[in-house]
Amino acid sequence: MNIRAIIQKIKSSFNHQEGLPNETVLGFLRVLESVREEDVPCDEVYAKIDEYVERQVDKKDAAQLMPLVREHLDMCSECCEEYEALLDVLEKTSREEK
Ligand SMILES: [Zn+2]
Repeated sequence: MNIRAIIQKIKSSFNHQEGLPNETVLGFLRVLESVREEDVPCDEVYAKIDEYVERQVDKKDAAQLMPLVREHLDMCSECCEEYEALLDVLEKTSREEK
């Protein structure tokens, strides 16, 4: 079983709970984070975050369109912080425009 398959399994269990993952799962994800090697590197995600956030604010389908970015954001707290910061800014600006 490869890491990607394991992560998929965890993610599908998140979907069942519809809420915040518990500490055990988070701990497990941190372990996975330290061993994974085949995933998208942060550089690549960073390059796509703008597009991802814009898509998310605009049409709300960024996760479907860029599942690899979504997957990375779920696992990488650094990129996720960047994403959330950008999302915050973009949501505020798009609200002001309307
Ligand atoms: Zn990252």
